[in-house]
Amino acid sequence: MGQEYDAAIIGAGASGCICAYFLLKAGYNVTLFDFASPLRTLLPTGGGRCNLAHAEYDFRELAKNYPRGEKFLYSVFSRFSTADTISLFEEMGVKTYTQENGRIFPESNSAKEVREKILEKIKKAEFIREKVTEVELAEGGFKIKTISNPHHKGREAQYFFPKVVVAIGGHSSLDIIKNLDIKIISPKPSLVGLNTDIKMPSGIVLKNVYSKDLNIKDDILFPHFGISGPLAYTISSIKARENFPYKLTFDLYPGEIKLQNLLNICPHKDVKNILSSFLPLNFIKALLGETSDIKAHKIDGKTRELILNKIHNFEVTVSGANKGEETVTAGGVDLDEINPVTMQAKKYPNLYFTGECLNIDGFCGGFNLQNAWSTAFAASEGILSHK
Ligand SMILES: Cc1cc2nc3c(=O)[nH]c(=O)nc-3n(C[C@H](O)[C@H](O)[C@H](O)COP(=O)(O)OP(=O)(O)OC[C@H]3O[C@@H](n4cnc5c(N)ncnc54)[C@H](O)[C@@H]3O)c2cc1C
Repeated sequence: MGQEYDAAIIGAGASGCICAYFLLKAGYNVTLFDFASPLRTLLPTGGGRCNLAHAEYDFRELAKNYPRGEKFLYSVFSRFSTADTISLFEEMGVKTYTQENGRIFPESNSAKEVREKILEKIKKAEFIREKVTEVELAEGGFKIKTISNPHHKGREAQYFFPKVVVAIGGHSSLDIIKNLDIKIISPKPSLVGLNTDIKMPSGIVLKNVYSKDLNIKDDILFPHFGISGPLAYTISSIKARENFPYKLTFDLYPGEIKLQNLLNICPHKDVKNILSSFLPLNFIKALLGETSDIKAHKIDGKTRELILNKIHNFEVTVSGANKGEETVTAGGVDLDEINPVTMQAKKYPNLYFTGECLNIDGFCGGFNLQNAWSTAFAASEGILSHK
């Protein structure tokens, strides 16, 4: 090992494997390091269906879906974005289709199939099943230190490579570069459910709830710990770097509720039954408490306003992210350290970073895998142009 056309890729996840694909195609010898089986991280994506991209074909519009990384991604996406992802997978024998909401999936709806097709295309790469413990600057390249079984004091080893790509994802420690002068932004959970002070009946989903703070509308789920589902995920992403606690206000039914008219029409009905055409019955009971049992004709003006206020200004205090649920992490290698054209570390020629270990993360909908593929392409181009 250690020839000019040798490259090591640390992390055989989405980004590392696609980077390997481009480099192998260009005639490079590629060695992939991972402590787990390659592309294991692809299997749970999109609920097992692999939402591999999003049907946004304008690269600037696409980049708007990344609370961290938007500007940096202009350069990357201008060279490799959604249409290129679709072509890349076609080239690999994976046909795709676009769902109504813009999410792009393989026709097979199988992350397993996508994984197998990619692995088939990179089988020429050498795979070393070891955990990398350190990347150290060395004469003409980098020393990669590993341990074969991190859990049982396994065998330690060292390798040398002239070119190294770090693609260890967002959930692993960047301690492997702790002796290099590269700034890391501490990781925070994103695309995650949020713990709140108010707990509503577990399992209820409300459609098209409006977040007054962020001016966005989407579905929200109430699990036992607080809020989750698409709206909570987007909020967790936008506010990933904000300190807890923070308050959120929702309009649970953004349409008009002509409550006085309804109370007049059905004077002997309980309030909860009147409102059940707007929100689920057990949700109303939890929201309004004893008020939900009052007969319509007994509701005075003050109580009516109180009821409407609870629906249109539903307030919660968020105390934290639901532990262990995060889909991605906000944080990673500071983008100021990286050349957005080549993905090369500005201070370390021939050291590249791709995927989620960078301080880049997107919303739900295929954006995070798009980042993995696009930055992998940019790094491969960077390596090829520095032969
Ligand atoms: C449940 C779930 C569902 C998701 N669904 C989607 C989806 O449908 N669409 C979407 O766009 N995004 C989705 N994501 C996010 C997406 O999977 C990630 O953003 C993407 O996999 C990141 O790619 P990556 O190559 O940077 O990192 P990863 O795919 O996480 O790969 C990193 C690899 O590095 C290895 N590694 C880490 N540290 C070391 C080390 N020290 N030594 C050796 N190897 C190491 C890991 O074992 C891993 O194999 C989902 C995430 C989760 C958790």
